[in-house]
Amino acid sequence: MRMKLNKNEHQNDSGVQKYAVPPLLKDQFGRTFNYLRIAVNEICNLRCIYCMPEEGVPFKPSKELLTSDEIIRFIKVAAGLGVIKIRFTGGEPLLRKGLVQLISDVSNIPNIQSVHLTTNGVLLEGMAVELKGAGLHGINISIDTLDPDKYKMITRRDEVEKALKGLKAAKEVKIPSIKVNVVALRGFNDSEISDFVNLTKHYPLTVRFIELMPFDAHQIWKTGKFFSAKQIINDLKQLFPNIKTSIGTATEHSIFSVPGFKGKVAVIPSYSRDLCSACNRVRLTADGQIRNCLYAKNEYNVKELLMNGSTDNDIADLLLKAMWKKPIDGWKAQRSGKEHRESMTQIGG
Ligand code: SAM
Ligand code: SF4
Repeated sequence: MRMKLNKNEHQNDSGVQKYAVPPLLKDQFGRTFNYLRIAVNEICNLRCIYCMPEEGVPFKPSKELLTSDEIIRFIKVAAGLGVIKIRFTGGEPLLRKGLVQLISDVSNIPNIQSVHLTTNGVLLEGMAVELKGAGLHGINISIDTLDPDKYKMITRRDEVEKALKGLKAAKEVKIPSIKVNVVALRGFNDSEISDFVNLTKHYPLTVRFIELMPFDAHQIWKTGKFFSAKQIINDLKQLFPNIKTSIGTATEHSIFSVPGFKGKVAVIPSYSRDLCSACNRVRLTADGQIRNCLYAKNEYNVKELLMNGSTDNDIADLLLKAMWKKPIDGWKAQRSGKEHRESMTQIGG
């Protein structure tokens, strides 16, 4: 039994907060993992062109997805191994019934310090109060353009107004950490960099420019829209010559702030993969597969263990094994086999 609770306090990766369980999830390269990202569904109310085709992908029926009880049990086991931060994603997590209760339950699990959500924000306005009340600590809202016509083009849905109202509601209810995710696309939203940076002027939110990744079966990323982190940073420095380097999370290596602005701007090299050595993430797909890297092809089936009467020790052992075998970086992971999933919505972005 490796899930020994040790009440000694240990510093987390940012060196700020303390937690009661030592980081037991490790790999062969000296990394430790304290951040678990869980997809709660595959379905979505948008159809972002880089994520899935108009007709969607073969979404698994809900009976094949993890139940709330299974998710909670898995998180308890992970918390016993030193996981302190949870993010729910999808699919579109706000479409999952019982999400608010799930967030509330997970917020109360010992050792879990913060619960976060990644959402397209379309349904957020009507849920922000409840989510805050459930203990949600952070929310990342994906909005790739502020222009209604361009939003319709990229998401195939006319919902930018609702997404922006969602962002406004998150600010009004004061969800402690608010980030806006922008997939940077050359020739599409590169002309809006200043508009996005200006969102950080009066409110302490972080705008994150994210590199396009090759996860859609239709390979939109091969159509010349790729805009590298280095190029985004160059553009930022030209547009805001006085921009200053700042401090962010483990995967926000390039983080800036404009003097006088309240928020921050991050550039995420998710395709360039410059930050693999700082990775602290574990992923769980909606159908209950542990993925030790976003780019990994090998998955570890925890759904089976959750359903067949296996013990918490068995689940802990599978998680420990999965993370120990994490490839050194996303390039190695990508070469480890052929991707069998068609969209980020099936992996949990
Ligand atoms: N539906 C929610 C949303 O859009 O925020 C959560 C799931 S979505 C898969 C999570 C994140 O992955 C979003 O910020 C989305 O923009 C990003 N994403 C999806 N496909 C991507 C791709 N091919 N390259 C880069 N980011 C991608
Ligand atoms: Fe839906 Fe998010 Fe994929 Fe867009 S990126 S289609 S919002 S899951």
